[in-house]
Amino acid sequence: MDFAWTREQLILKESIIAFAREQLNDRVIERDRAGEFDREAWDRCAAFGLPGLTIPVEYGGQGYDPLTAMLALEGLGYGCTDNGLVFVLNNHLWSCAISILDFGTEAQKQRYLPPMCRGELIGGQVLTEPESGSAAFTMRTTAARDGDAYVLNGTKTFLTNAPIGDVFIVYARTDEVRGVQEGFSAFIVTRDLPGLSLTKEWEKSGLRTAPMGQLTFDNCRVPAERLLGAEGMGYSVFQSTIEWERSFFFASQVGVMERLLDRSIDYAQQRRQGGKPIGSFQAISHKLVDMKLRIELAKLLLYKIGWLKREGRLAFLEASLAKLFISESHVQASLDAIQIHGARGYMTEYEIERELRDAVAGTLYAGTSEIQREIIAGLLGL
Ligand SMILES: Cc1cc2nc3c(=O)[nH]c(=O)nc-3n(C[C@H](O)[C@H](O)[C@H](O)COP(=O)(O)OP(=O)(O)OC[C@H]3O[C@@H](n4cnc5c(N)ncnc54)[C@H](O)[C@@H]3O)c2cc1C
Repeated sequence: MDFAWTREQLILKESIIAFAREQLNDRVIERDRAGEFDREAWDRCAAFGLPGLTIPVEYGGQGYDPLTAMLALEGLGYGCTDNGLVFVLNNHLWSCAISILDFGTEAQKQRYLPPMCRGELIGGQVLTEPESGSAAFTMRTTAARDGDAYVLNGTKTFLTNAPIGDVFIVYARTDEVRGVQEGFSAFIVTRDLPGLSLTKEWEKSGLRTAPMGQLTFDNCRVPAERLLGAEGMGYSVFQSTIEWERSFFFASQVGVMERLLDRSIDYAQQRRQGGKPIGSFQAISHKLVDMKLRIELAKLLLYKIGWLKREGRLAFLEASLAKLFISESHVQASLDAIQIHGARGYMTEYEIERELRDAVAGTLYAGTSEIQREIIAGLLGL
């Protein structure tokens, strides 16, 4: 097993950190307060090539392999303090663009991927409904075939990027009789379609710069050529997409955890109480050691997935393990960083309390922690 990164990979990571620090971290406190997405920062990400990180060059992307993409995202998470912006990007790439790449026809890839890589179109995933969250495939939204189109009816909610997005992968029931494996289909839906409307914008605790909304489909006619994969393949598309989400979203969170660790070490060395740096107190230094340990374990989990993906192999169990461990470690790292910074950690201007609000979301989306434990238990034969 070779754990060495190439010089090019390390330069890429460093250049992303420098780019993020210089160009993405403007007015984050104010924008977090206002719940405001930074479209200009998004455009700068696009000029840097981030929305098409792993999309092949022939479709306008950077064509990076999965391991290189993980390192790049770690760099982004480390350098960019606007976690909401990174979340928008992760949703665009791993919940939408990658599904079009994996399941789209050549015409669909040619049509959607180049503008998505240029950042002109923002992508999202439309799965959850008011009555179906963890049990997503008990959804009620239907897609009935009518001539050369499917007619969609239903309401989807808690959708990242819904207020700002242009292209959505939408899941709906296409057969009332067939079960989960064959009864659902995925569609590429663009926001210009009549019958599709944004019916609510959610205000949320964290990731506030990543807008979230609810979409309602009212006899929305989706041309049949927008079907992603064949009819009845919705569950397969989802299973593939969720594997990318549960691993690659969390690469950037490892970067955030590293940023929190470095800031906390720095503070523990500077801040003195009773004549000593607080880092000399074992109660503080051991927290920092545990933060470091979780980061190293998180990287091992991630890089194994990067390797499996590069080899074209399944990583379903590994993705659940990584998602569970990293999301919970991220919450713990945020709590530790607050504790080490004392009252300052709790003050908005120090920008650490926001990290905790942002981190909690990771234990909910892409399957809650409870659901990850259920999946892993099932794969252990329990
Ligand atoms: C920040 C954020 C971004 C999101 N982005 C998107 C998006 O872009 N697109 C999209 O479609 N959805 C999105 N979601 C929705 C997300 O996928 C759902 O919230 C999630 O699947 C949980 O569903 P729920 O909220 O309805 O909770 P529920 O499923 O109602 O669960 C409530 C509680 O019960 C537990 N529970 C439920 N079932 C079981 C079980 N079988 N065993 C044990 N415990 C169980 C859960 O773990 C949880 O603790 C997002 C959510 C958040 C928080």
